[in-house]
Amino acid sequence: MSKDYYKVLGVDKIASTDEIKAAFRKLAHQHHPDKEGGNEAKFKEINEAYQVLGNADKRQKYDQYGSTFDQMGGFGGGMNWEDFMQKARSGGGGFSNMNFDFGGLDLGDIFGDFMGGGGRGGRGGRQQNYGEDIQVDLSLEFKEAVFGVKKEITLYKTVKCGHCHGNMAEPGTRITICATCGGQGRVTRVQRTFIGSFQSAATCPDCHGEGKKADKPCVDCHGQGVVKQKETISVEVPAGVENGTTLKMDSRGNAGAYGGGAGDLFVQLRVKEDRRFEREGNDVYVNKKISFVEAAIGAKIEVDTLDGVIELNVPDGTQPGTKFRLRGKGVPYLRSSGRGDLYVVVEVEVPKRLSRRQRKLLEDFNE
Ligand SMILES: [Zn+2]
Ligand SMILES: [Zn+2]
Repeated sequence: MSKDYYKVLGVDKIASTDEIKAAFRKLAHQHHPDKEGGNEAKFKEINEAYQVLGNADKRQKYDQYGSTFDQMGGFGGGMNWEDFMQKARSGGGGFSNMNFDFGGLDLGDIFGDFMGGGGRGGRGGRQQNYGEDIQVDLSLEFKEAVFGVKKEITLYKTVKCGHCHGNMAEPGTRITICATCGGQGRVTRVQRTFIGSFQSAATCPDCHGEGKKADKPCVDCHGQGVVKQKETISVEVPAGVENGTTLKMDSRGNAGAYGGGAGDLFVQLRVKEDRRFEREGNDVYVNKKISFVEAAIGAKIEVDTLDGVIELNVPDGTQPGTKFRLRGKGVPYLRSSGRGDLYVVVEVEVPKRLSRRQRKLLEDFNE
């Protein structure tokens, strides 16, 4: 049996991998056996062709040996069609464990129907209407991250419809049990495929899994139970967060249509730098310049800390780079008690220019 796989996929011999993928995708959609006008034999054939041409190594061998490729076991060696369909039926995934290579193509849309909708991890009918998660960035000042802050963010998102309160019916009208699914929210479908028939449960297309239907859908949300509008959300930022910390707010994402649950809101924090403080975990470093005289004879200096200005005693003979540790004056531990430490790092300044008198004094000192 020799086939021209290029012809099967309708591509040139010099077609790029992307072109081959695109051709396969288009044909797989077109000939999907569950679709009207689908063609089982054709579907199988294009899959076969893609198994070879979609794999650089196999394609090269095929190009080299042409029609004898099959006889060499180049293709048939790993292909087990039954196995493949078995996998597809059981809910997808795991294709990579088999001798099938789809070159990273997401086949969810092609095999989705075929897999009886199970490819989504087996969520129930209502859960399919879950609203999407939302991710936003929130900018914080350095000290806001240290001590925590309450912020408000405004999002344009789906929220429960205020007119029908999310029940999808025009106020004052009746809500009745869905006739299509008898209130179950799910319908059983029998799918006939080229490897036999099998049953699958799917969300009721009529009531979207709700099990009930409004006689007259709400005019505001067109019977979806949700509308898109601005919502201001108050975000409680706890003390001790860092740049990149993400706060998860359950169910504050998009509200789900047709009674589905809401997605979550993820607030990613962007903490601005502060030129006075350098943070390392829960410890903070502050650089403080003192004169070489203060370093030599000792001094009382003022230092800017997270808690405000404090006085620090610098003893005589303090060396450049000396760190003074202020225990518990660093950043609070996130969702825990206690704080890190604050270190004052001493920089000793040497004067660039001296008056004649100063020079004389130093010369005398030097002797
Ligand atoms: Zn409504
Ligand atoms: Zn229904």
